[in-house]
Amino acid sequence: MRYAGIALVLTLLHLLVAARGGTHADIIGQLLRIGVFASGVCAALQRQRRTRGMGRVLWALLALALLMQVLWAASMLASVLWPAHGLALAIAASVLSALYTIPCMYLITSAFTGREPRLVKALDTGMSVLLAALLILLISTVMGGDTPGDVASVRLAIWHADVIDFSLAVLATVRLVGARGLGRRHFYLATSAFLWVNAIAAAIYNRLDMAGQTWWGPVLLDVAFVLLAVLAWRPPPAWLRRYVPSVQAARLIAAFAPVAISLGVLILGISLSRLNFIGGASAVLLAAVLYGLRVAVIQTQHEDKQQLADLSNRQLLRQLGVDPLTAIANRGALDARMRQILASGVSCSLMMIDIDYFKQFNDNHGHVLGDRCLVQVAAALKGALQRSSDLVARYGGEEFAVVLPDASAQETEQMGQRLLTAVQGLHIAHPSSPLGYVTVSIGVAIGRHDWLDEGDAVTALLQAADHALYQAKADGRNRIRHADGDAGQRAPTFDS
Ligand code: GH3
Ligand code: MG
Ligand code: MG
Repeated sequence: MRYAGIALVLTLLHLLVAARGGTHADIIGQLLRIGVFASGVCAALQRQRRTRGMGRVLWALLALALLMQVLWAASMLASVLWPAHGLALAIAASVLSALYTIPCMYLITSAFTGREPRLVKALDTGMSVLLAALLILLISTVMGGDTPGDVASVRLAIWHADVIDFSLAVLATVRLVGARGLGRRHFYLATSAFLWVNAIAAAIYNRLDMAGQTWWGPVLLDVAFVLLAVLAWRPPPAWLRRYVPSVQAARLIAAFAPVAISLGVLILGISLSRLNFIGGASAVLLAAVLYGLRVAVIQTQHEDKQQLADLSNRQLLRQLGVDPLTAIANRGALDARMRQILASGVSCSLMMIDIDYFKQFNDNHGHVLGDRCLVQVAAALKGALQRSSDLVARYGGEEFAVVLPDASAQETEQMGQRLLTAVQGLHIAHPSSPLGYVTVSIGVAIGRHDWLDEGDAVTALLQAADHALYQAKADGRNRIRHADGDAGQRAPTFDS
């Protein structure tokens, strides 16, 4: 209440003094205005102390922007008190109003997620500084032309001030619409209300000033500060609590906001280039470079994050027993299943399956299509299985394995034939293979539970199947061979 009350009382006094006129009315009025502006700064700082997290930075930046306005008002008072220093004070005033836009722009355009890289923050600050420098250059060019202070120049300066003030107000409103946290919405409500009233008041004030002031003109500028002090002091209104933007809208607005500042620099740069070509063109160029750098930094950071996410996804899948490329079981899951089957006392049929001439396939089609082929083969093998207890796994590289619990030699042979046919049925073109499309070779071994007593049964079974696979390759590929060298005509148990 304190600062809102002070601001209101001082504004009323200002109005009273301005209405009465008199010899010292101007000086007293300016003093009162400084008081109103300072109350606005104190109100923002009070709210800042009560706020937690990134909100503190926002309120502090707003207080800093308002402080520039206090200093601007002080320089106006000084120019009344010491008219001999009029020119220096006029320059100081224009520099201060340009400096006011730096924190304003920064708090409206930055994402304030707390996650932006330092370089991005530095680039955003650089862009705000560039904008302010451009403003100072523009004002000094307009005011320091051949006929400084002439009506056309002053009009141009006012027009630019309007564009900036109203742009700030629009941007703050957009941020209000896209703010998800209540604290943020409260901040952007106070800021956008201040900026709108300030933009309208300044537009009227500047025009009245040009035409010769009316007595109430100077009081107009106080209104925005009173409003801000009230909004900073009051808790957020009920409708603001109820309004919550969608995550998508909030993200889109936060991501677009930084573009606005570059747009501002571009517009001012183009405008300045009509009066000062080198200055304007350099600003446009610098804005393009800064913006390009910003995009590059964010892009690299995004790619790094994506890689990390992919890596941890793959690790997670592996831990879960899933092969990340083909989404079938992995080597770990295969071993575990074989142990489980053998321990349960039934036989375990193992088929080692290897794609024929796959190295040439990669050489002909590239690794991306090679990977796609692996995915298709995995899916075909999986689709050929008939019982839920059967398992297909990626053993590694272009080798797969199928385990069948409690399957006879004949059933195993039939399943092997199904697998060969399933892969052939994909008709994946492979010009370097004799058949013209992708095929597989299969080595089969059947193990029994009594192996468990003979060291590592799983390893022995794998070795036997691998040996059979070697035989299938040697015999011409695209075929099945059994561990005992007999192509399934009799019981294909390698230990019989
Ligand atoms: P063979 O008929 O004797 O099996 O011949 P091959 O060329 O298939 O056998 P080899 O073991 O010499 O080559 C296997 C190739 O498989 C080597 C490698 O280029 C490829 N490969 C292994 N893992 C992957 C993978 O994950 N993706 C892709 N695209 N290729 C792989
Ligand atoms: Mg191989
Ligand atoms: Mg191969």
